[in-house]
Amino acid sequence: MSRPTEFDFIIVGQGLAGTLLSHFLLLENQRVAVIDYPHEGRTSNIAAGLINPVTGRRIAKSWRFEEQCSFAKQTYRDFELLLGAKLWTERPIARALHSNFEVNEWLRRSSFPEFEDYLFDEPDMTHFEGKLQAPHAWGELRGVAQVALPILIEKWQEYLSAKGIFFLDDVDYQQIELMDSDVRYKDFTARNLVFCEGAKAVSNPFFSHLPFLPTKGELMLIRIPGLEFERILKHNIFIIPLGEGLYWAGATSRYEFDGPSPSEYGRDFLVEELEKTLALPFEIIQHLAGIRPTVADVRPFLGRHPDYPSLSIFNGLGTKGALMGPFFARQMASYLLGKGQLDEEVDIIRVGNAARKGHDFKKPSL
Ligand SMILES: Cc1cc2nc3c(=O)[nH]c(=O)nc-3n(C[C@H](O)[C@H](O)[C@H](O)COP(=O)(O)OP(=O)(O)OC[C@H]3O[C@@H](n4cnc5c(N)ncnc54)[C@H](O)[C@@H]3O)c2cc1C
Repeated sequence: MSRPTEFDFIIVGQGLAGTLLSHFLLLENQRVAVIDYPHEGRTSNIAAGLINPVTGRRIAKSWRFEEQCSFAKQTYRDFELLLGAKLWTERPIARALHSNFEVNEWLRRSSFPEFEDYLFDEPDMTHFEGKLQAPHAWGELRGVAQVALPILIEKWQEYLSAKGIFFLDDVDYQQIELMDSDVRYKDFTARNLVFCEGAKAVSNPFFSHLPFLPTKGELMLIRIPGLEFERILKHNIFIIPLGEGLYWAGATSRYEFDGPSPSEYGRDFLVEELEKTLALPFEIIQHLAGIRPTVADVRPFLGRHPDYPSLSIFNGLGTKGALMGPFFARQMASYLLGKGQLDEEVDIIRVGNAARKGHDFKKPSL
C-alpha cells in the first residue's frame, strides 16, 4: 500500500492529548496522520493516570468532576474494547490526615452534599498495621479511578501503525508551510495541523504567546517486600499498586528545574517521603521524570491560531489529563469540524482577554 500524503488532520504529538484527539477525529471518519517523537520529559508514558474527585490539602472538588469523569470512563472503556487492554481500574485512596485540623476539615466537608459520595472516615487499615508509619488519622476517598496511560499510549501507537497513519518524526517547525487553506509538512498536506506536544509546546514558535507554566514531576517504581495492597495510599506522596508487586510512588512538583532528567533533588525527596510512610524497607526499581504541561489557571489550552487558522493547539492538560482529556478532546474535535464551540474557560482566547484586563496569567493559582 502506498503511503497517503493528503489528510484532513496532521496531529503533532502522541501523548494522551494526541491519542484522544486522533481517536475522536477517526470516529468522525477524518483522514488523520499522527506524528510523534519520544522526547525526554514527555509525561503520559510515566503518569499515574489517577482520576480524583477531590485533591490537595484544601480538599477541593475537581472542576466539573461528574460530567468529565462519566465521559472519561465511557471513553477509556471504548478504548479497552478497541485495543483489547485493561485501562480503567476503580479503587479507593486511603488518605493520611496529618493533624486535628485536617481531620476536622475532612469531617466538615464530608457532610456537604457535593462530597458525600467521596469522603469517608475511619477506613479499615488493619492490613497495614506495623507496616506503615501511622499518621494522625486516615480518611478514605472513593470515586477514584486509575487509568493505565502508558498502556493506552503504547497500544494506540500500535493501532495507528497498523492503519499506516503513525509516523515517527521530530517535527521541524521550519518545514511547516502555510498555504491558502491548507498546511504542508514535508510530503504531507492537510486542512489542519494540531499541536499536541505537551510541555514541548514552550518552544513552539506558533504558540509562543501562550503562557505555559510547566512543572517537573519525578516518581519511582518500587517494590515493598512483605506488603501487598490493592488500595492507593496517599501520605504526602501517592503509592499506587501497578500489579505484580510493583508500585508507583510520587510525585514531586516543581516550577523551577534544570532539565527533564531525574534529579538528585527528586531522588532525595521521594526516598525521604517513602521513609516517612513505610515501616518496611523498599527497593527502588526505576527513577523517572517528566514535565507536565501545566497552565496557571489550571485549565487546558484549546483553539486555533489567531492568524493561521489551519494551525491549532490541544494542550495544557496539566496534572489532570486523565480526567479532562477525553471531554475536551471530543470538544476540540467538534470545534475543528465546525460542529461545536469551545468553552470559554479552555479557549486560548482567554489569554488575550486576561492581558487586556491587566491580569498576570503566569501567576499560579494553585
Ligand atoms: C510524575 C507525573 C505524574 C502524573 N500523574 C498524573 C495523574 O495521576 N493523573 C493525571 O490525570 N495526570 C497525571 N500527570 C499529568 C499527565 O501526564 C498529563 O496531563 C498528560 O499526560 C499530558 O499529555 P500530553 O499529551 O499533553 O503530553 P505528553 O504526554 O508529554 O505528550 C506529548 C508528546 O508529543 C511529543 N512531541 C512534542 N513535540 C514534538 C514534535 N515537535 N514532534 C514530534 N513529537 C513531539 C512528545 O515527545 C510526546 O510524545 C502526571 C504527570 C507526571 C509528570
